[in-house]
Amino acid sequence: MKKTFKGGVHPHEMKSLTEKKAFEKMPAGKQVILPLSQHLGKSAAPVVKKGSIVKKGELIANGDGFISAPVHSPVSGVVAKISQNPNLSGIYKDAVIIDVKEDEETDYLPALNPDTITSEEIIERVKAAGIVGQGGAAFPTYVKLMPPKDKKIDLLIINGCECEPYLTRDFRFMIETPEKLIGGIKLIMKALGINKANIGIEDNKPEAIKKLNEHLAGQGEIEVKSLKTKYPQGAEKMLIKSITGKEVPPGKLPLDLGIVIQNIGTACSVYDAVVNGIPQIEAFMTVSGLGINEPKNLIVNVGTPINEILDFCSGVNDKAIKLIAGGPMMGVAQPDFNAPITKATSGLLILTKEEVGDNEASNCLRCGKCVEACPLDLMPTKLARLTQLERFEEADEAGILVCMECGTCTFQCPANIPLVQWIRLGKQSALKIKKEKQSA
Ligand code: SF4
Ligand code: SF4
Repeated sequence: MKKTFKGGVHPHEMKSLTEKKAFEKMPAGKQVILPLSQHLGKSAAPVVKKGSIVKKGELIANGDGFISAPVHSPVSGVVAKISQNPNLSGIYKDAVIIDVKEDEETDYLPALNPDTITSEEIIERVKAAGIVGQGGAAFPTYVKLMPPKDKKIDLLIINGCECEPYLTRDFRFMIETPEKLIGGIKLIMKALGINKANIGIEDNKPEAIKKLNEHLAGQGEIEVKSLKTKYPQGAEKMLIKSITGKEVPPGKLPLDLGIVIQNIGTACSVYDAVVNGIPQIEAFMTVSGLGINEPKNLIVNVGTPINEILDFCSGVNDKAIKLIAGGPMMGVAQPDFNAPITKATSGLLILTKEEVGDNEASNCLRCGKCVEACPLDLMPTKLARLTQLERFEEADEAGILVCMECGTCTFQCPANIPLVQWIRLGKQSALKIKKEKQSA
């Protein structure tokens, strides 16, 4: 029997809407809006100004500080302005806006030889290409390739679970470009100085498992691990538990167990950055849901506004009631269709009432289903209640900061209580109080 983690849920997969749709490149529109903060950490610092002429691939903003990432232009054109624009969280942030001009010329980085490149050169290239993790958090990838000297890393885990319903982007990477993916994994292993990698894939993707096993035949250092299909199998702690049987203790990181985790799309971007010199200027994403007329898997220029992507998919139908960036479990509802997609956008979902269901919340039934389902053994109902009562220090003691916001509890709640939304709010206040105490 396959090893797995405690709890979890089985939402409708809905992957059949797009799983057979190969990636399609969406042509450039008239303008791109490039937020300077598309990653976790400090915003990038612009190196262009209004009127600057840029080529596709050219650096427009430098990474600023240790945890930051540069931004490159996905198009050739002229900088129209640098101004505050709404991002995918609905917050106004600085962005470089470029008017697109047709030009075949590119300004990519020099191509490097993957066979002779050194570990340091890979890390330097990943940093210069602005690669960020595509599993959701958009953490600058080069930082994860430089673990502290006292942490000995011996295993790379590539997250191919794609456990969020609807999304099929990672699946398409695995079956369309397995050579690129494996090449990227080898480069990450070289950067980390290790010789062992596992690719964790949920067993609802037999075609991907077969395809990668065929391409890996005779290469023992990279192994595919078929995992039980269960949400949130792709969460770091759950993935590690299912593959190695080890638990990451609260407050610790995978690297404390000698493990680095990267996403499928990130490995492909590493390959492109090293072998083809291409910075991270495109987002590979699934556009799906019963509210969009033509669901697709797309390659889209970073900075493309959402409404242009919806138009490219033949528009939304009259049943559409909700737009989410990301998956339905952890994604963020979008109030503004003019917001641009970023490097780590994995999907846009246009959902109907039939999919969203009845969201009217009622009182807690004390059924305990949220507690049973929480993979981290937390008490979601208690954490939400403490937040409502603004008892943030007690919420901290009850483990609110450990919550990974997977949404499993909300999905499972028969009373439709927005547990994860309350917990997310409570985490912000609990963290603020903790920091204030530490600096006092
Ligand atoms: S969102 Fe947090 S509390 Fe809810 S199931 Fe996930 S980890 Fe547990
Ligand atoms: S699942 Fe919902 S109704 Fe049941 S105990 Fe948790 S919060 Fe209450």
